[in-house]
Amino acid sequence: MRKITTFLLLFIAFSCSTNNEIRGISLKAPLSKNIDNFLKFTSNVLAPDGVNTIIFNIGWNYEFKSFPELTGPDALSESDIKKIVKHCKSLGIEIIPKVSMLGHQSTLIRDNKGIAVKTKMHSLLENYPEFDENPEVKLPEKYEWPNKDGLYTKSYCPLHPKVHDVVLPILDELVNVFEAKTLHAGMDEVFYIGNDNCIRCSGKSKSELYANEVNLIHSFLKKRNVELMIWGDRMIDGKETGLGMWEASENDTYGSIDLIDKDVIIADWHYRKATKTHDYFIEKGFRVLTCPHNNKEVAKTQYDQYKNHKSENYLGMVQTIWLTNQEFIDFYNGKIKIESGKKGSLETYKELVSLWKK
Ligand SMILES: [Zn+2]
Repeated sequence: MRKITTFLLLFIAFSCSTNNEIRGISLKAPLSKNIDNFLKFTSNVLAPDGVNTIIFNIGWNYEFKSFPELTGPDALSESDIKKIVKHCKSLGIEIIPKVSMLGHQSTLIRDNKGIAVKTKMHSLLENYPEFDENPEVKLPEKYEWPNKDGLYTKSYCPLHPKVHDVVLPILDELVNVFEAKTLHAGMDEVFYIGNDNCIRCSGKSKSELYANEVNLIHSFLKKRNVELMIWGDRMIDGKETGLGMWEASENDTYGSIDLIDKDVIIADWHYRKATKTHDYFIEKGFRVLTCPHNNKEVAKTQYDQYKNHKSENYLGMVQTIWLTNQEFIDFYNGKIKIESGKKGSLETYKELVSLWKK
């Protein structure tokens, strides 16, 4: 009976969805021990809710065979991933693996109010410190923002002669194990780029450095028939739009919008208010997705904008969740309370689902 109910819910969800509209959610990868909870959640919640795409934040948490030393502390195995991919496929859900290239090579550890208090290197720069764009900036014992180094997260140097010998095989492994049609390479909030102290990058255009790295990864994936998706913030002028240095760029990378291959898909994230940046990307020839987070009113306006838009290059929406995978499931099921700003991400998700089902 339960199987029949699930089947009926899935049938209704699929029938209601507009053919190619992306109805997505961005989630962190589960821990290996929690995979079955995640699979149950996809069957019982995400699929009946009409979710057809998961941006799956695997990061460095995979048992890489090409560079085993880069395997992160919460790594999933090949069989773990295959199990997840097979299950999601059976539900009509596409998985887009995500690992951050260029920026976000270190991470911030936050307290329960969401304040960043510590910082930790990810495995790429931990193992290959020579790739660090700003080696002169050491990770502090106690992290606070703002800080004198402007340290948010670390970047690798895109002009280091060996860096692509490492990162491209990593992308190759991920697209293979996920049987991915699209890979999300992050590339957001790259604050460290074109460092004056870097013998390779100093004096070069930051827009060109950024665009060349995006295009290099894009052409590598294209040869494998895989599309590239990135966050859009570095391509928007933060000062002119008033959007600031996080969801837009105040470090001279926004000129990259005219240099990046138009085949790249832009995930345009805006959490505080609905913007018109989707129009900007579409006018420039890109396909775009809008990504809300923790404000359901913002998401509602964004969805109205999406529904009233005529361009086929406006692909849909992706709800971003920055809780851990298990936290989101537990929060959804009312088992835990969330005190940080991430609290609103559940009701925003539910708002989007209700709009999808209208
Ligand atoms: Zn450099």
